[in-house]
Amino acid sequence: MSNVLDNDIMYLPGVGPKRSELLKKELGIFTFGDLLYFFPYRHIDRTKIYKIAELTEELPYVQVVGRIINISEAGAGRNRRLKAIITDSTGTMEMVWFKGINWVIKRLKPNIDYLFFGKASRFGSTFSMAHPEMDIYSPNQEMLTGMLQPVYSTTEKLKSNHITSKTIMGYVKALLPIVKGKIQETLTLPIIEKHKLMTLQEALFNVHFPQNPLILRKAQYRIKFEELFYTQLSILSRQKVRQVRVNGHVFKHVGVNFNRFYYEKLPFPLTNAQKRVIKEIRNDMISGKQMNRLLQGDVGSGKTVVALMCMLLAVDNGYQACIMAPTEILANQHFESITNLLGDLPVTVGLLTGSTKKSERNTLHKSLEAGELQILIGTHALIEDVVRFKNLGLVVIDEQQRFGVAQRAKLWEKNDDPPHVLVMTATPIPRTLAMTVYGDLDVSIIDELPPGRKPVKTIHYTDAKRNLVFGLMREQIEKGRQVYVVYPLIKESEKLENLKDLEDGYESIVRAFPPPKYVTVVVHGQMKAEDKDYAMNLFAQGKAQIMVATTVIEVGVNVPNATVMVIESAERFGLSQLHQLRGRVGRGADESYCVLVSQVKLTKESRKRLETMVSTNDGFQIAEVDLQLRGPGDITGTLQSGMPFDLKMANLATDGQLIQHVRGVVNDLLDSDPLLEQPQNSLLKNQLNKLEIHRTDYTGIS
Ligand code: ADP
Ligand code: MG
Repeated sequence: MSNVLDNDIMYLPGVGPKRSELLKKELGIFTFGDLLYFFPYRHIDRTKIYKIAELTEELPYVQVVGRIINISEAGAGRNRRLKAIITDSTGTMEMVWFKGINWVIKRLKPNIDYLFFGKASRFGSTFSMAHPEMDIYSPNQEMLTGMLQPVYSTTEKLKSNHITSKTIMGYVKALLPIVKGKIQETLTLPIIEKHKLMTLQEALFNVHFPQNPLILRKAQYRIKFEELFYTQLSILSRQKVRQVRVNGHVFKHVGVNFNRFYYEKLPFPLTNAQKRVIKEIRNDMISGKQMNRLLQGDVGSGKTVVALMCMLLAVDNGYQACIMAPTEILANQHFESITNLLGDLPVTVGLLTGSTKKSERNTLHKSLEAGELQILIGTHALIEDVVRFKNLGLVVIDEQQRFGVAQRAKLWEKNDDPPHVLVMTATPIPRTLAMTVYGDLDVSIIDELPPGRKPVKTIHYTDAKRNLVFGLMREQIEKGRQVYVVYPLIKESEKLENLKDLEDGYESIVRAFPPPKYVTVVVHGQMKAEDKDYAMNLFAQGKAQIMVATTVIEVGVNVPNATVMVIESAERFGLSQLHQLRGRVGRGADESYCVLVSQVKLTKESRKRLETMVSTNDGFQIAEVDLQLRGPGDITGTLQSGMPFDLKMANLATDGQLIQHVRGVVNDLLDSDPLLEQPQNSLLKNQLNKLEIHRTDYTGIS
């Protein structure tokens, strides 16, 4: 059966072939349904007419009604402008046009009431409106004054083809009577009634043309509710299915390696948070269900040792374990610290990265397949098909934001029954994202740093204060400490230019800190791996005091003697990146510093980012601010994550409470009908299937 919502947008009265091409290309509106779901991004209140005396600069767009008492032209050529002074009973203001002047002049008549609509700005003692919308005013003019008017986003291309927000509003007006009665409800009656929702049709109509703000909010609520409902239903029902169908390996024993490690090798007492998390993980691993757990812990919170102890649980139960890191540097570092921690315990550990030699690689592969190698540490080289385990029981993924869903899924296939998966991240994930983007992972949090850590002191300097930056560096180096200086490298296309920043910076640092007294190394992403390693090692061994680098050091590098992190052009970094970078210092017992150097002029957002960094060390607080500033799309994009569906209306940054509420609703539903088999839920099941067919296909674990 064909549905009118699937009709080509070309056939909507007033559109036609030429404009439909533009709508398709510019806005992705192909069908009637696409237009129906092309929501206005805001509404303007046309219910109120302001008196000129009431105007303030804080008001958004406003309407005033007035008569023209004077018209004048000023300037010539490009500077030509038209001014009309208007008055109502309370005062006067001016309307200004810079373009289309000849056309406007013809329409301006004395002794007629006009309705002007626009943004009022103050110039001296009077208000002025540039390029107002203008109509002849008649008091019972429903269309303009009786409602909230939708505003749709358009593009330059559309505007130059005379398709404005108003044009789109006209299309939607034409569309609604055509689709009326043909919109299929997507939620069941009990849900609609229980949660006092609008029907879908009511919501879709009112989201475009609401009578008042209250109705608009109700309409938006219904649409958000539905989006989040199916997001959660998708996530949680997959989780349910997995719990029913997939067997988890059972790590019954707490064995000799675990115990010897804990009592003989551990160089420090675990923090309470570490202990709690290990318990949570162990409970999963004896439950008979497959674990999918996200371990969040700020930089330096001690995730590595938690991972190691979990891997020992696997080993003691006859399983193999692996840990996968996003970079070679980090994999090397894990290998080193883990072999160090294990000391003489009889556990076999291997390292596999892109630079592992072929011969070594073959040996590794063989001993893995034979089950002789118990713990494998590596980069994404681990995922390759040639890497086969005898009995893989636990996969640990470190700094997971660098891995795609598909890559994680590949690790699942390394055993007949999928291994337990522990995903570790130092980028704290706001609750709303944890419930959606990572919605089917259970979450453990290390919310405590090892004792004795001093919070990093963060200072913001502008470029002009560089001597103070150098002063701090010198003072710390005198004390035997080391310093990172980081330059941004944001887009691929900017690579060369930024490398120039880094090179210039390097030169000025070497001038201020001349050899042989000072040794400065450079590390950036375009160096050969061996040169990079050489430089890194000089720094790690304390033979170089200063490392000038791009963000390659963002993840994981651990040099406890480094106490200063200078971030150049700090305004160009995102918050989570800044926080990651800051986490590179403050790893030892000494007071550490993070210096954010920026230009004087900052956008509001950059200022907020830098202020946030200066005011808090709390990764979760920073993550929340980050989410507010960047919006969720950007963040989920970076995380390469799998949201089940796009959200058109709901907002992960601002709808946290609703997400939580809807998640509860869906959980209750699935508790009573885990596979949606009951007849009263068939509507939900069908709708979910329909949505899932549409999205990009992947078989993933989150
Ligand atoms: P991250 O969570 O950032 O991966 P690491 O696991 O690298 O942190 O740990 C950071 C440093 O803290 C390491 O040098 C580690 O040995 C140390 N560490 C971990 N746990 C403790 C603890 N409970 N007490 C003292 N030091 C600890
Ligand atoms: Mg780490």
